[in-house]
Amino acid sequence: LLPGATDASGRPATLGVMGGGQLGRMFVQAAQAMGFSTAVLDPDADSPAGLISHHHIRCAYDDPKGLAQLARCSDAITTEFENVPAPALASLAALRPVAPGAASVAIAQDRAAEKAHFERCAADNDGVRPAPHASIDSPEQLAAVAAELLPGILKTARLGYDGKGQARVKDRAELAAAWDRLGRVPCVLERLLPLRAECSVIVARGADDQCVSFPVQKNTHRDGILAVTEVYDGAIDPALARRAQAATMAIARQLGYVGVLCVEYFLVDDGRGGLDLVVNEMAPRPHNSGHYTQNACDVSQFEAQVRAVAGLPLRAPVQHSPAIMLNLLGDLWFAPNARHAQASDTPVTPPWDEVLALPGTHLHLYGKASARPGRKMGHLNITGPTVAAVRDTAAKALALLG
Ligand code: ADP
Ligand code: MG
Repeated sequence: LLPGATDASGRPATLGVMGGGQLGRMFVQAAQAMGFSTAVLDPDADSPAGLISHHHIRCAYDDPKGLAQLARCSDAITTEFENVPAPALASLAALRPVAPGAASVAIAQDRAAEKAHFERCAADNDGVRPAPHASIDSPEQLAAVAAELLPGILKTARLGYDGKGQARVKDRAELAAAWDRLGRVPCVLERLLPLRAECSVIVARGADDQCVSFPVQKNTHRDGILAVTEVYDGAIDPALARRAQAATMAIARQLGYVGVLCVEYFLVDDGRGGLDLVVNEMAPRPHNSGHYTQNACDVSQFEAQVRAVAGLPLRAPVQHSPAIMLNLLGDLWFAPNARHAQASDTPVTPPWDEVLALPGTHLHLYGKASARPGRKMGHLNITGPTVAAVRDTAAKALALLG
């Protein structure tokens, strides 16, 4: 699909996206920058992507009329979040190219299916496996949990994100109580691993099998939410980084995946003084940890998504600057440094003017009307000539925002 082209009826080449959150917004921005028209399906009138898209179809994700309308006005369709009902993607796929496909999204929606896929890939993956785990779908499975999985983390199989739908459990009593609290829905229990670090890899794969990988991101989470991503020489051991990239490509290939895929990894002690890779979870879409690509790489993860969905060539991305990404949560709107603060319970715009005066800062805000603690409002990408320079800017930005 060529950007800027029109069909026989004069309709411009249009890319559609299921979901109107910030990831959809940045996809829309990348698509529009290249000359595509865009269509967003999202029930929310104020969705970040819907606000800036050529078309915004406001309906539920499984509304047949809305889905038909999205298919009518789009030449190819993608998704920006994993909880789009897989049958909705399947029904769109009957009418238009859809990437990623419903089968890949369905696997990524379910932690048990996702881990089973990782196990299947392990032979092809230099032995990169998920943490020891078991499915908990019934009281019998709960009772039969192996002792080696405790202490562990109980996670709902579906709909968990940013650490939500999870409970750390020390013993069987805590496990049973946590499963009750999570509503006895299907869960996965994983052994609690002593994490030394976390990283993630983004790949883009086309329908013609070409696959490219972005550099490996080192991630720091706070309260289960990504806080900082660092990408530069020395952030991750190069041999581990190559292994993670190869594993991610294998995971994508074995899914027959088309689009942008992010896979998260843990770095744990290997018991021999080194670090080993454990595969955690995947997202069938661009990922928060890949936002640095917008300013530090010659192709962003969103442009890669546009290219993959439109069937355009994928180029191996080149990183041209060390990068740090700081997530901007709504909490910053309540921080002591927010200026003109009258009362601590009123959100106040952080001092972006001072942040933007620092060298190498790139501000991305998602156009969300109201700030709330824990809400992802935007991110700050920091680039610079050296690792020391980006670190220095990051420290100054955090001091201004703190
Ligand atoms: P989410 O969908 O909420 O991102 P994750 O499985 O990535 O769920 O878990 C969120 C965070 O919890 C991880 O980034 C990691 O810091 C921690 N975590 C998850 N699983 C484990 C584990 N098995 N051992 C230790 N820490 C874990
Ligand atoms: Mg995660």
